Amino acid sequence: MNSPAAAVPSEIVQSPLPRLKITEIFLSLQGEADTVGWPTVFVRLTGCPLRCSYCDTEYAFHGGTWWDIDDIVTEVLKQGVRHVCVTGGEPLAQKRCLILLQKLCDAGLDVSLETSGALDIAAVDARVSRVVDLKTPDSAEMARNRLENIPLLTARDQLKFVICSRSDYEWAKTMLVEHGLPARCMVLFSPSKSQVSARELADWIIADRLPVRFQMQLHKLLWDDEPGR
Ligand code: SF4
Repeated sequence: MNSPAAAVPSEIVQSPLPRLKITEIFLSLQGEADTVGWPTVFVRLTGCPLRCSYCDTEYAFHGGTWWDIDDIVTEVLKQGVRHVCVTGGEPLAQKRCLILLQKLCDAGLDVSLETSGALDIAAVDARVSRVVDLKTPDSAEMARNRLENIPLLTARDQLKFVICSRSDYEWAKTMLVEHGLPARCMVLFSPSKSQVSARELADWIIADRLPVRFQMQLHKLLWDDEPGR
């Protein structure tokens, strides 16, 4: 069952200024998806309307600092790397995130977006690689999945399942077939740390010859859950 939905503070969604509320901007290595291992600037937006059981970025739910969007782009460019990942929280909960994504693309950067899959991705700049979650039953947020996003996914995008149990795995397999997901975009399966062992999930995928890409979060192997890494 869902945990009670947490509202995104209204000032975040409705501020009239070309600003975004930001938890942190930092340089690290991309820890997941198809750009894993690349030096990447992360722009973490504040706020999320979901409360997944395994969330590791609860510190981004509240607080943050207002930044002018142009200043965010300048800060990203200052880091001197090609890849930038806009993440959260749920970045699309702040509507002006769409402007930021467009400006980062205009600046010639390789831009990815990490999103919960609960909000509409249709208006995201087509140059952005979208990494979209499909929340499993044990995430406690399955009811928030916006299935209308699935037909919008292209070969530039990736769909990510965080697997918390064998029953989550079976559910994910059903979704693969029902929605023809592997033919649409790369599908990623990650173990939820402390709920399913990485080896167990890897063995299930091999036994079933699933057309999905197993991944472990590189940043957690390197730096555990340290914020800003
Ligand atoms: S969508 Fe992401 S940031 Fe939001 S609660 Fe779930 S895991 Fe945490």
